Amino acid sequence: MKPVTPDNIESIPGRKLSETDTFSFACRPELDCFNRCCRNLNLFLYPYDVLRLCQNLGISSGEFIDRYVDVVLRDGNHFPDVLLTMADNEEKTCPFLTKAGCSVYNDRPYSCRLFPVEQAMVMEDTAGRHGFIYIFRPPEFCHGPGRGDPMTPGQWIENQNAERYVRMTMQWAEIKALFVNNPWPGDGAYGPGAKMAFMAAYNLDAFGDFVFKSGFLKRYRVKKAVQKKLRASRAELLLLGFEWIKLFAWKIPGPRLRPM
Ligand code: SF4
Ligand code: SF4
Repeated sequence: MKPVTPDNIESIPGRKLSETDTFSFACRPELDCFNRCCRNLNLFLYPYDVLRLCQNLGISSGEFIDRYVDVVLRDGNHFPDVLLTMADNEEKTCPFLTKAGCSVYNDRPYSCRLFPVEQAMVMEDTAGRHGFIYIFRPPEFCHGPGRGDPMTPGQWIENQNAERYVRMTMQWAEIKALFVNNPWPGDGAYGPGAKMAFMAAYNLDAFGDFVFKSGFLKRYRVKKAVQKKLRASRAELLLLGFEWIKLFAWKIPGPRLRPM
C-alpha cells in the first residue's frame, strides 16, 4: 500500500474511487484472460498475508520467508518491503498458480483479493495524519471491467471476504509509514533493532518464541487474559507484534504492552 500525498494523487494512474463511487467488475474462469494477472508481478506481501499463507501451506513463517519471498529495501525507507518471489520459468508465474487457478485462493494475499482495486494511504501532513483512497486500475488485458453489478469499494471488499485483510493491512501501513524516518540512527535498516522489528511483523513463529520463551514477559507486562488470546490466535500475536514495533522503535505505547 503506497503512501501518497494530496499533491500527487492525480498523477497516480487509474480511476480514484470515493467510498460511494461504484465500478463493475467480475472475474470468471471462462474469460480468455484467466490467470494472466498471476504472472510477472511485483506482489507485495504484508504481515497478515504471510500469516495466512503459512497457515494455508502448513509451513513455518521462517520456511515461508526462505522459500517464497524477496526482501527489498527501497531508498527513503528504513524498513524493507517483502515481495512474493515469482517462479523461475519463462512467464515468471506466481508460485501458487495452477491451471485451475489460485491454489491458495481462500488465503490469497490482500493485493490479490482487492485486485483490480488498490488502496493508497494519503499522507495529509508531516505529523502523520492520513486517510485512505481506492483506485480502480485493471490492466489492459483484463476482461473483467464492465461485468457484474456496480459495487462500491466497501461492497467489493465484502464480496472478496477481505475485511480482515484490509483492517490488518491498514494498521500495518500506518506503522510502515513511520519508517520514512530511521528509529535506529547509525545502525541502518539491517541492524539488530531492524531485524527484531522485521521478525515481529513477518516471522511470527520466531516472534511467538521471543514472547513466550525469552524474558519478554519479564520486561513487559501483558495481562493473563491477553496472553491466553496470544496463545490461541496468530492474528492476536501479530497485533501484539505491531504494538511492540511501535513501542520498541517509536516509543508509542499501546493497550496490550506495558514496560515493567
Ligand atoms: S485478468 Fe482480470 S478477468 Fe482475467 S483472470 Fe485476471 S482478474 Fe480475472
Ligand atoms: S496468490 Fe493466487 S491470486 Fe495471487 S497472484 Fe498468486 S495465484 Fe494469483
